[in-house]
Amino acid sequence: MSLPPFAYHVARSFEEAFELRRQYGDEARWFSGGTALMLLMRADLLHPAALIGVCALPDMRGIRVERDCVRIGAATPHAEVAASPEIRRLLPVVAETFNHIATRRVRNVGTAGGNLAHANPHQDPPTTLTAFNARVVARGANGERRIPLDGLFTGYFETSLQREEILTAIEIPLPAPRTRAAFIKFLPRSHDDYATVNVAVCLTGNAKKVEGIRIAVGSMGATVLRSAEAESLLVGRAPDEARLKDAARAAIQGADPELDSRGSPAYKMQVAPVIVRRAIEKALAA
Ligand SMILES: Cc1cc2nc3c(=O)[nH]c(=O)nc-3n(C[C@H](O)[C@H](O)[C@H](O)COP(=O)(O)OP(=O)(O)OC[C@H]3O[C@@H](n4cnc5c(N)ncnc54)[C@H](O)[C@@H]3O)c2cc1C
Repeated sequence: MSLPPFAYHVARSFEEAFELRRQYGDEARWFSGGTALMLLMRADLLHPAALIGVCALPDMRGIRVERDCVRIGAATPHAEVAASPEIRRLLPVVAETFNHIATRRVRNVGTAGGNLAHANPHQDPPTTLTAFNARVVARGANGERRIPLDGLFTGYFETSLQREEILTAIEIPLPAPRTRAAFIKFLPRSHDDYATVNVAVCLTGNAKKVEGIRIAVGSMGATVLRSAEAESLLVGRAPDEARLKDAARAAIQGADPELDSRGSPAYKMQVAPVIVRRAIEKALAA
């Protein structure tokens, strides 16, 4: 299907971006890589009167290490995150996750910020970034605020960003020394597809005693799942067979997977705890 007509503006300053947004109101959309927006417009699901490009705004692209976090500019393409020497050194599992997104063509164009703002629950970075306790920086006409990923995703393709806010950066706290992490994307079809289930784990401790752990599960409902019960079953204890099994089941509490080409809900409910368990074991062995 051909695209409906729309105006396209490239904002060069935040003032210009917010002014354009005021002019068009709800008829406008922020535009980064366009990989998700174009599909929605072609499918006749979205008809914005204007797209406002945010990639040329100041400080939107690039990666730098700050005092207590690694900052990824929202307009940084996935491929750049995956190849970044800083990310590969300090957060190799984050690099691995971005390298698992779709194909090279999508990774060259899609952006880290566009991925989180899109809030498709089948995406990969939301799961890993939740396990790493990342936050986003949102800028509106009245200033800036930080939103932890646990509070960003509110529903299927929905976030707590206000309509006029621009996601400008992702901040990943520098992991505590000896943090172990793992990401597993399970998919039965070709490697460039969305996951049936994806799991990320970040933990401190070892095979004798888990000191702290964050387990995030994606593709199993409207938003990334985290279960306080699953994590507390392991903290302060040895991750033995029985505990791993109980924690893996608890980690998917509240899951409500869809029927799609990647499996039936019943199949996904069987597979997910196995992948959670493998991800914990992989992190322990890292
Ligand atoms: C064929 C294909 C396969 C894919 N496979 C995977 C996969 O395996 N794993 C995975 O994780 N993802 C996958 N994706 C999703 C891809 O990662 C997203 O399409 C991409 O990250 C969206 O980024 P974008 O920069 O293109 O966003 P856009 O399409 O530009 O925007 C997406 C949404 O976010 C909003 N938005 C964009 N930037 C901002 C901003 N800075 N502030 C506020 N709102 C903003 C837009 O208004 C729009 O609503 C796939 C996509 C395609 C097309």
